[in-house]
Amino acid sequence: MTRTLYDATRAELGELLADQPRFRVDQLWKGLYEQLAEPGDLTTLPKALRGKLDVALPAALTTIVERVSDNGDTVKYLFELDGGSRIETVLMLYPDRVTVCVSSQAGCAMGCGFCATGQAGFTRHLTAGEIVEQVVRAGRKAREMNRRLANVVFMGMGEPLANEANVWASIERINTDIGLGARHLTVSTVGLVPGIKRLTEWPMQVNLAVSLHAANDELRNELVPINRRYPLDVLMEACADYLVAKGRRLSFEWAMIDGVNDRESDARELASRCRALPLAAHVNLIPLNPTPGYLTRGTALKRVHEFRDRLEELGVNATVRRNRGTDIDAACGQLAAGQPVTQQITIGRRPAAGLTESGTSGSPL
Ligand code: SAH
Ligand code: SF4
Repeated sequence: MTRTLYDATRAELGELLADQPRFRVDQLWKGLYEQLAEPGDLTTLPKALRGKLDVALPAALTTIVERVSDNGDTVKYLFELDGGSRIETVLMLYPDRVTVCVSSQAGCAMGCGFCATGQAGFTRHLTAGEIVEQVVRAGRKAREMNRRLANVVFMGMGEPLANEANVWASIERINTDIGLGARHLTVSTVGLVPGIKRLTEWPMQVNLAVSLHAANDELRNELVPINRRYPLDVLMEACADYLVAKGRRLSFEWAMIDGVNDRESDARELASRCRALPLAAHVNLIPLNPTPGYLTRGTALKRVHEFRDRLEELGVNATVRRNRGTDIDAACGQLAAGQPVTQQITIGRRPAAGLTESGTSGSPL
């Protein structure tokens, strides 16, 4: 695979600029990470050098579609990677903060039946640079809109804790070089316990979101197959250890599926799992987005609110998250091929074959 712009280390840039005065490396590094600039736009660099960099270090992401929601608060990207896989990135502008939802893999091997990415299967891991570049692209767009990107959630395509090395490397870059605080970065996992344990030991204070969706093993085995390997008792123990060690925010994601995990018994089971934790966790409720491969529908909003109220009565903090940007198929979540696109701004080499819906919603921050 070609080494891409945001995959190159500082030392590699140094080698590439070996014939230049030393301050050029610093100029370039700051240009890429602090100014979020493209090398071609770094007019402090000599023109010939800019041309050389463009060839030696190509951008990783080709924009296939950029779509802005009607009210302008959500921007969804479909990017193509080297090799042809496509990933989704969603920029969400809230009144008080700006968040980007990034993908960590093209596809996903975890096989959750309700998730469009899971239905499509796994294609490949993203490199650290491919992840960082999603943040850079979103940051640039936010700036164009006179806003400042401050939060990153790993809730796009893929399972971040199945691509740990590259995800951690990207987090380090996002934190150290782009300058976003670790407390503004959230890793969402389906519940890969070894990864949660390593995250617990990692000094960086990133937030953790665990996609729970069911609080008994029978139902969770069905919704989230990896539960067979890491059943709820083991998962909750890892969450408890995380809470004690970090004192950081832990949230549980719960995609509400009509008649499946939105019953009174589900609220009780979930509340009892939460109450057993040493510190409070926060539950995010999101009505399931429809996907082509899963026939059951999302819970009606009224019932979602009732479920939230019930959890609160049972002593659990819960928030209803709205699916953002449904008019542009955006909600931060998954991408799969297949559905026709009705309205779009096509920028890249060829029109999108299909941007499909799915995914979640607002950031847990
Ligand atoms: N693999 C990680 C992160 C990416 S998925 C994880 O599973 O946590 C991000 C979130 O979207 C998860 O909470 C996931 O359960 C949720 N999700 C997947 N498909 C969805 C759908 N159709 N509707 C609503 N949320 C969905
Ligand atoms: Fe993968 Fe997360 Fe989708 Fe499950 S919900 S298939 S873990 S992306």
